[in-house]
Amino acid sequence: MPRIAEIAIACPLRQTFDYLIESDFADIQVGYRVKIPFGSREVIGFVIAIKETTTQKVKAITHCFEQEPVITHELAQLIQWTSDYYHHPIGDCYQVALPKKIRLGGDNKLKTVSSWSLSKNDLPDKFLGEKQQAIVDLLLQSVNKTLLQTQIYEQLGSCLSTLNRLAELGVITTSESVKGPFINQLPDPFKKLNSEQSHTVKTICDNSDSFDVSLIQGITGSGKTEVYIQLAEKMLAKKRQVLVLIPEIGLTYQIVARFKSHLSAKIVVINSSMNETDRHQAWLLANKGYADIVIGTRSAVFTPLADLGLIIIDEEHDSSYKQRDSLRYHARNVALIRAKQANIPIVLGSATPSLESFYHAQAQRYRLLSMTKRATGAVLPQVKLIDSEGPHASNGLSSILYKAIEAELAKDNQVLLFINKRGYAPVLMCHDCDWQAVCPNCDAKMIVHQGRYQLRCHHCGFNQPLIHTCPDCESSDLGHYGAGTEQIEHSLQMLFPSVPVLRVDRDSIQQLGAFSALVNEIQQGGAKILVGTQMLAKGHDFHDVTLVGVLDADHGLFSADFRAIENLAQLIIQVTGRAGRGEKAGRVFIQTSQIEHPFWKKLLSHNYHAIAQDLLTEREMSAMPPIGSLCVIRARAKEQSLSLAFLTEVAVLLNQANQQGVLVLGPVPAMMEKRAGYFRAQLLLTTQQRKVLHQLLDHTLPAISALKSSRKVKWSIDIDPMDLM
Ligand code: ADP
Ligand code: ZN
Ligand code: ZN
Repeated sequence: MPRIAEIAIACPLRQTFDYLIESDFADIQVGYRVKIPFGSREVIGFVIAIKETTTQKVKAITHCFEQEPVITHELAQLIQWTSDYYHHPIGDCYQVALPKKIRLGGDNKLKTVSSWSLSKNDLPDKFLGEKQQAIVDLLLQSVNKTLLQTQIYEQLGSCLSTLNRLAELGVITTSESVKGPFINQLPDPFKKLNSEQSHTVKTICDNSDSFDVSLIQGITGSGKTEVYIQLAEKMLAKKRQVLVLIPEIGLTYQIVARFKSHLSAKIVVINSSMNETDRHQAWLLANKGYADIVIGTRSAVFTPLADLGLIIIDEEHDSSYKQRDSLRYHARNVALIRAKQANIPIVLGSATPSLESFYHAQAQRYRLLSMTKRATGAVLPQVKLIDSEGPHASNGLSSILYKAIEAELAKDNQVLLFINKRGYAPVLMCHDCDWQAVCPNCDAKMIVHQGRYQLRCHHCGFNQPLIHTCPDCESSDLGHYGAGTEQIEHSLQMLFPSVPVLRVDRDSIQQLGAFSALVNEIQQGGAKILVGTQMLAKGHDFHDVTLVGVLDADHGLFSADFRAIENLAQLIIQVTGRAGRGEKAGRVFIQTSQIEHPFWKKLLSHNYHAIAQDLLTEREMSAMPPIGSLCVIRARAKEQSLSLAFLTEVAVLLNQANQQGVLVLGPVPAMMEKRAGYFRAQLLLTTQQRKVLHQLLDHTLPAISALKSSRKVKWSIDIDPMDLM
């Protein structure tokens, strides 16, 4: 019977396409990349199923890219699950999951490197020319009398013809090996784990033969990273691979360095800042089993691994694991499914677990492992609130904090100031007519950037030169309000002219290399002031930081977002965790205009556990996640009415399905209605029964896609949204 392949192609259509498998391609399997005629073009598609058929009325596959599937069965299954769960077109899921070279039909061959080895030791000198002798001398001096061709070139310049001549003479031989990561042959001994750490490692290892979720709730500095390293070692001993997810590209350098220092392993990094050639190679190294450990950010969750034995998710609460556009997946969620499909253990680690994980741990679906002490013996820092309305040393910096900074610098310590606002000042306004600088494309204020001499919108990137007269009334009495990282940096340079001030934000650090260099510089020690955004707050281990100042903590207290308090608590604990990690004790000052707010009392007098518990109770009462499930259908259009019109029709379709278990709320304009020139609106679906919600979407999506009004808007589905803004 003829067979047809069901094929996913990269397009926003929510459907797959059938193509005939002719006898030339009889061995096609699920996961193969093929070429197919599509409309007037030929496109690349992915085989997601093979079926028998009686009809031959479909077009045939015209080319097949592989002899063996590049996309493993496991990966194909994971992508399928992701497409189903997030209700996202399957072809587009392949786009997100695969590196570009693989997507475009690139080959499945690992790059190799040539090396040269000496074949004889007792060489008759007189037969060798000068250059030949130089090569032989170089090889004689090297370990194992072998060098990479590139190493020889570095010393002697390109000399391929001489190398070939020596090979003909039988003096040297060449070999090819896979171009892989550097392996540390002399790893440092492991740290001796304390009792909490060894209990954690042992418990996870004892349960490592099948699917099993552990949540390590370990305070900042409790030695979670050390635990990950030793867990990885146990997996390596079993010759199985480990996948480690981290929330920020900026943390890569530090975590890779720590893994490398203790493990003789092939450690491969995968993230979006790599060039396509390196990413392709890293992906193949993982896929073919050459990589022992893969460390990467969100999208690395889709890295195929020949024999995956363990997944570790560091800082599992971090919202950057959720992709905010196209395929809106949460890497933690995908990783959990992956671990289940592969029947392996998964470890989630955080000082401040997400309410989701916290909830599952309470319900005993995840095993909770607590680490309550700092591994170096350091104590957690003292935290004090400062009234931000009190006396000031400069704009944004209170006198109390100023004096504390002065005292720490005098002791040659480092100070970290956290402010979650880039730029110089968040508001520019006219004192005569109250005009404010706002973005023409967004419902948002323009931010003053002194360094670039610009006004910039942080939502759409729109910018214009800084102005000094009001565009409305021509007054020159313009003033700016609030302070961002640039301004704090500037003030500190004035207040402490002899101390280096390092600013870390997306404006100052455009390249990963620059960030690594900066982290290195900080770790060198000596008095320094670090000013930065979240980039600086997360995960870093800076030993000389003894004072942390949080300059604008209030923002989260007034946000309408249902996760705002959770995120604020997590952020404050993360930031304060940067203080006193080394031998010296740390102090933390938090500037707030809401010194009496009950949130602070709870955070300072209790631990995160207590706050999480309270928040869970609130979420339970309001049936919000993780107790209830949410889905947001968003639409945007150049005209205000179009988004609402489309979503109103969607609401009608959803309500017609008469599904009791799902509440359809809205549509309403988004909190920031206009953004990047589009008017935005959204429809909220809530349920206590996740399954029912998914059934409803499966049932209704074809009709939604067919709506005429859908063609006039851009729309998306967000399952488990991080916010409702
Ligand atoms: P976390 O990841 O929980 O923030 P780390 O693994 O970075 O904690 O550990 C914090 C510090 O304590 C690091 O400097 C680390 O080298 C050190 N450390 C971790 N475990 C031990 C141990 N068992 N003995 C001594 N020092 C340790
Ligand atoms: Zn004016
Ligand atoms: Zn804008």
